[in-house]
Amino acid sequence: MSQPFRFGIVGGGQLGRMLAQAGAALNARFTFLDPSDSPCGRVHGHHLCADWQDDAALTQLVAASDAITFEFENVPADAVARLAAERPTFPPAGALDTARDRWSEKSLFMRLGIEVPPLALVDSQADLEAGVATIGLPAVLKTRTLGYDGKGQKVLREMADVADTFAELSSVPLILEGFIAFDHEVSVIAVRGRDGETRAWPLSRNEHRSGILHCSTPLDSHGLQAEAEAAAFKVMHELDYVGVMAFEFFVVKDADGSERLLANEIAPRVHNSGHWSIEGAVTSQFENHLRAVAGMPLGETALLTPCAMLNIIGRMPERDAVLAIPGARLHDYGKAPRAGRKIGHITLLAADKASLDARIAAVEALLVNELGK
Ligand code: AMP
Repeated sequence: MSQPFRFGIVGGGQLGRMLAQAGAALNARFTFLDPSDSPCGRVHGHHLCADWQDDAALTQLVAASDAITFEFENVPADAVARLAAERPTFPPAGALDTARDRWSEKSLFMRLGIEVPPLALVDSQADLEAGVATIGLPAVLKTRTLGYDGKGQKVLREMADVADTFAELSSVPLILEGFIAFDHEVSVIAVRGRDGETRAWPLSRNEHRSGILHCSTPLDSHGLQAEAEAAAFKVMHELDYVGVMAFEFFVVKDADGSERLLANEIAPRVHNSGHWSIEGAVTSQFENHLRAVAGMPLGETALLTPCAMLNIIGRMPERDAVLAIPGARLHDYGKAPRAGRKIGHITLLAADKASLDARIAAVEALLVNELGK
């Protein structure tokens, strides 16, 4: 029997919890560092409840780990550097830095020939006005760092929305993007091993509501799969990436009906739009992330059956009503309910598209109140 592999995880939210659930099958051990009450520490490993920069906690995390990874990327750079100096730590600091800053990531995409929406750097109200003059309206103004689930964003529709907006967004560095009238949104989840081997799961089609992911459905043969994978692999190669990375795109339909990808953003970790892979793929994004970080062989990423994932936002539906839906697998993260908070998800499996759609409708009926519809 091989020794249990010991993972240190920076962050202790639901992503850490699902990493630990996948790792349990491999008899792995987990230590989480998270300053708040953690939904994974209680059952799935040891929780170091301390600030990201707490020296004693970082020392303990290093001592308890054979390799370290992240389920949360907004960790101070000096804490990442400290960990990386002492243990194999993936993804590398440079990848976290790039993904943290919308300008850096989009600059990288452009350098690698990956198409992005029209964009401009905004460090002042004058930059904003110049950007609007070039890009036109509508446009989307986003904070360069710390934005997620549509937070730190403002859609500018008319010139009245532009006046004083830089100060309104706290005068932090911003980027302005052209508003893309996309047909739909997709993401590709990809993984790269320590030896540089890459794999990708089928593209997920993602539907957002109020800026938060509502539903992800893997698409068995999307015409843009190869292009999305190639973009993800190029970025991972460039960043000397190890682990799972998510790459989100807008799919734009041109006048002749052909479809094109515009890159939106990367997440340097396992991602909400890949949760369906737990039940729906040969190897889940969580298990392959662990395998990559530990230097183990990567697993197959093929889709097993039509499936979809729906997020539970704000309030849990009645448990037994969900469990009674055929093909439904409930994931309750054990988090306190709060408006707009992701507290669980449901994966639906089905033999064909028609029964999948019926099951999605049954779950959506249970989520109606939670979505405030
Ligand atoms: P983000 O945090 O950049 O992923 O944005 C959250 C969501 O806002 C995206 O998934 C889109 O639905 C929408 N969005 C972001 N940027 C744009 C854009 N340039 N044009 C249209 N919609 C956007």
